[in-house]
Amino acid sequence: EPLPYSAILQPGHTLGMMGGGQLGRMFCHAAQSLGYKVVVLEPTEESPAGRVAEYEVVSAYDDMKGLDTLLSYTQAVTTEFENVPAASLKYLSSQIRISPSAAVVAVVQDRIAEKTFIASQGIPVAPYAEIRTIEDLEKADNTLFPAILKAARLGYDGKGQARVKSVAEAVEAFKSFGEVPCVLEAMLPLKKEVSVVMARGFDGKIALFPIGVNTHINGILSSSVVGVEEIDPTIEKAAQEAAIKIALGLNYFGVMCVEFFILEDNRLVANEIAPRPHNSGHYTMNACLSSQFEQQVRVLAGMPLGSTDLLAPTIMLNILGDSWFAHGGEQAIEPDWASVLALPGVNLHLYGKAEARKGRKMGHINIVNKDPQQLIYYARQVSDILH
Ligand code: ADP
Ligand code: MG
Repeated sequence: EPLPYSAILQPGHTLGMMGGGQLGRMFCHAAQSLGYKVVVLEPTEESPAGRVAEYEVVSAYDDMKGLDTLLSYTQAVTTEFENVPAASLKYLSSQIRISPSAAVVAVVQDRIAEKTFIASQGIPVAPYAEIRTIEDLEKADNTLFPAILKAARLGYDGKGQARVKSVAEAVEAFKSFGEVPCVLEAMLPLKKEVSVVMARGFDGKIALFPIGVNTHINGILSSSVVGVEEIDPTIEKAAQEAAIKIALGLNYFGVMCVEFFILEDNRLVANEIAPRPHNSGHYTMNACLSSQFEQQVRVLAGMPLGSTDLLAPTIMLNILGDSWFAHGGEQAIEPDWASVLALPGVNLHLYGKAEARKGRKMGHINIVNKDPQQLIYYARQVSDILH
């Protein structure tokens, strides 16, 4: 029998995490800081989270033996990514507490279901067409071009996406994806990208983190800036209300992020939902009283949510494997961390990944400073060292 929503798991209990990546690792750190133990289920050995968890189950996400082993350790399981098979979560949920639920994950792991759901809540999404066949592309509204073709499943960090100017280019991209279901989305004129990171406890209470402004390079998040730029309060409020509507509509419990586009004409468009802590919420680790990972722990354990107050303006810079090759050579060379750490307000978070590869997220840096001018100055210095 799963735990009732009102049941609290005291520190000392073991919490479960599906997925061994960096988000799972930072969950482990937050859980351990509160006195919990963590069991990680992950298919590969030596994963970032597996290395720091008390217990590790190396198993495929849909392997019954692995799932049963996980069940032997814990009464509550969460995930660090949306591509865990919904069927596995459903199986676990018959015996233990699961957040997010299988039903939520089934919606957000498929861009078609996700967009259909968001639009059903009266929240604007980019104009799009569902693409299952080449004929769907040929029939697609011409006003969608220039467009982005996105595979409906398993895309991340701009992977499984192609920018296309015509039906012919779209057909070519569709074939290169193996003709899997896709969405063809109009390319929108973006003024800003922002995200709302929030937590909802099993008691129904909601805590919103301050809105961050995100910059992407090559489809990968590069930076999040919080407490520096003015965001139009009406847009900010609309984004927060839309995120809450999505959480309530999904009957969501846990940490959730909604990415939004603010268009040139100030219209707000919802892009995608992450049913977990998100890269754009990493700034919370040093900028807020409780981080997004601590909130994830608190929700899973049935504890009250923490305060999301912003302590000071913060810039989060992602560290990609590219920084190991910034000198131009083919040999990976460790960045000059001592120089980074010599700068005031720098908080370095590395994920313990064995090998640096271009485009791979290796860590992030939160630069915190009460003075926005100084903050920007030191963030530039960090960036110069890394690039
Ligand atoms: P991922 O799952 O890789 O994060 P996204 O749909 O968020 O996929 O796309 C990655 C980035 O590509 C976005 O953050 C944005 O910068 C850009 N992008 C995506 N869709 C659009 C669009 N319709 N118009 C303009 N830019 C877009
Ligand atoms: Mg995205």
